[in-house]
Amino acid sequence: MKLSVDKIPDEGLALNYREPADSFDYLKKEGVEAGAEIAGPINVAVQAQKRSGGIAISGQLQGSAAMTCSRCLDEITEDISHEFSYNCLPHEAIQEEKEELTMENMDLCYYSGGEIDITALVHEQVALVLPMRPLCKEDCKGLCPECGANLNKGDCWCRKEPVDLRLAALKNIKI
Ligand SMILES: [Zn+2]
Ligand SMILES: [Zn+2]
Repeated sequence: MKLSVDKIPDEGLALNYREPADSFDYLKKEGVEAGAEIAGPINVAVQAQKRSGGIAISGQLQGSAAMTCSRCLDEITEDISHEFSYNCLPHEAIQEEKEELTMENMDLCYYSGGEIDITALVHEQVALVLPMRPLCKEDCKGLCPECGANLNKGDCWCRKEPVDLRLAALKNIKI
């Protein structure tokens, strides 16, 4: 989605559209350690307002992502509900602003050809909002390093003290 700066009226412009799920396919490989898949289209609402020398963009994202828990490898679905804002300046402004490209200017964006690439901003925000190490729950116990059992579903035998001598004996049987 490209937004033509000339078409933004003085009173501002509101834009609603859907970013298709398959445009996020690259997330399966990059950006998120365990891989992520956007589960459906991302609903995007954007407001654009002319400011002196640039365009103020504020927006909301709504959707969901399918991910793998980084501890137990369970499939999880993470809701994406996120607000963002950018101050978009024409590309030519980079020269003048160069000395100010510090952390606090992270929400700056530059556009050229009179068009703001809304899709690029949406992709940047989606990558930002997805957790680097997704967890199915805060206290996920993960997998047993010995047998690979999912410890959220109960202890595995490796963790249990042999309380029964017969079981202990069974454990020592070599097959
Ligand atoms: Zn987990
Ligand atoms: Zn185990």
